[in-house]
Amino acid sequence: MLNEEKINSLKKSDCHIHPDFSIDAKSSAEEYVKRALEIGLERICFTTHIDLDPHRAAADLYINIDGNWQIPDENAVRTYFFRIDNLRGKYGDEIEIIAGFEFSFEPHFADKVGEFITNFKPEFTIGSVHAVEMLEITSRYFVPAAVRNFHPKKFIKKYYDIVVEIAQSGMFSVIGHIDGYKKYLSRWWGLSFCEGIEGEVIDEVAPKIADAGARFEVNTSGWRKGLCAPYPSATVIKSLVAAGVEVGSIGSDAHSVEDIGYRITDAANYIIGAI
Ligand SMILES: [Zn+2]
Ligand SMILES: [Zn+2]
Repeated sequence: MLNEEKINSLKKSDCHIHPDFSIDAKSSAEEYVKRALEIGLERICFTTHIDLDPHRAAADLYINIDGNWQIPDENAVRTYFFRIDNLRGKYGDEIEIIAGFEFSFEPHFADKVGEFITNFKPEFTIGSVHAVEMLEITSRYFVPAAVRNFHPKKFIKKYYDIVVEIAQSGMFSVIGHIDGYKKYLSRWWGLSFCEGIEGEVIDEVAPKIADAGARFEVNTSGWRKGLCAPYPSATVIKSLVAAGVEVGSIGSDAHSVEDIGYRITDAANYIIGAI
C-alpha cells in the first residue's frame, strides 16, 4: 500500500485513549464508546497506563477499579479486560474496540514489562518514555528535577537512547509520543533549542528504529498542549519515514471524553505533508 493510502486509513481510528482505569483520566470507557460513535470513529483502542518501575511512586503504578487504586495484578487486569469485553458485546457491531495499555519504559524494568505482556497478551501496546533515570518528564510538578539534573544535550541523547531500546525490545505495537519530552522541557530550554539538538540526534536514531522493525504513533496531544505540532513534529516524522519507519497509529491521548478523536484527520494530513 502506498504510504499516503496507509496514512489515510488511520483517519477513523483513535488508538490512544485513557479511560478512567487510568487514575489521571476522567471518563468511563462507555462514555468514550458513545462519543466515538457520535463522531464517526470506526476503531478505538483503550490504552490504560501501566508503570512497572519499582523505584518510582508514579500515579501510573495503579489501575483504578471503581474508585479503588489497585496494583496491576491478575485481578485488576482481568477486570479491565472483562469490562472492555462487555462493551464489545454491547457495541461491537458498530465499532471495533481494542483493549490495550500504554507502558512507561526504561531499560532497568524492561523485564517486568516483558513479563506483563507475556502474561496478559494485550491486543495493543504503546511503549512510552515518561521518565529518564527515574526523573519524571511528563508531569509539570516533577519536571524541574529533570531540569536540574540534566544538561539538555545529554538529556535528549539519553531520551532517544531509551526510544531506541523501546524499538529494539520488540514488545510494543507502537512507540508512543516519540518527542513527547518537549511538552514541558521545551518551556524550560526553549523549543528551537531542543529541536536543534534533536535534529542532530534523530538522523542517527531513525535507522536504528527502522532496523528494529518498530512503528510509531502520531499523538495529537502536542497540539492540545500548546505546541504547534503533534508528537512527533514534522522534522522527526520525515526523518523516521525516510529511514523506513512506519506510522503505526494515530491517537488523541484523551484523558476525558471531549478529547476523543481530537484532530485525528488533521494528523493524517500533517503526516502526509511531512513525508
Ligand atoms: Zn504517555
Ligand atoms: Zn497516554
